[in-house]
Amino acid sequence: NFRCRSAFKLLEIDDKFGLLQPGYSVVDCGAAPGAWSQVAVQRINSAGTDQGSPRGTVIGIDLLNIPPLDGAHFLSNHDVTDPATHGKLQELLPQGQAHVILSDMAPNASGFRDMDHEKLITMCLSLIDLAEKILLPRGSLLCKYWDGVFSHHLQEKLSSVFSSVRTIKPDASRKDSAERYFLARMYRKPSK
Ligand code: SAM
Repeated sequence: NFRCRSAFKLLEIDDKFGLLQPGYSVVDCGAAPGAWSQVAVQRINSAGTDQGSPRGTVIGIDLLNIPPLDGAHFLSNHDVTDPATHGKLQELLPQGQAHVILSDMAPNASGFRDMDHEKLITMCLSLIDLAEKILLPRGSLLCKYWDGVFSHHLQEKLSSVFSSVRTIKPDASRKDSAERYFLARMYRKPSK
């Protein structure tokens, strides 16, 4: 039983791309009410249900409260774009590093499509800063965005640090919505 239908989008994407492997460390951004974290806990075995495979780590973050979940560590009332949150993540993750960053974050929609689009793109761009701090080389980032004029800018920024970036419109996503996901894989830490 999933807390939210959004679980089916992540299941669909993971079935196709094999993003979540047992033993991985995963950060779930915008995790409330926790359905994506439920999927992640199952797939990376962070509750230790499958004793024959390695046990992973799931850390979920949201501005809102996230009800507790076996196998996940939640940072409720935390802003993913706040550098203080990045510091906490570094402390909580094994060796301070993650294999995968998931983001299903979305701002409260104002109803003005262009404005909401731009706001969400800005949030996604902040994930690139987070990646620089915690994402392992060859790691992956999956992030939701609402399509619009700045999508290309985000895609280019992602392409500058990930070897592979693709756009995904899950079948489980409403056909008439502007919702899309970027799946960025094979992270290359930028040299300074
Ligand atoms: N993936 C979740 C699930 O399966 O249960 C649903 C996520 S919901 C579509 C989007 C969430 O993003 C909201 O709970 C919202 O509070 C959160 N959010 C928006 N901006 C955020 C921010 N700056 N930091 C953390 N969470 C944020």
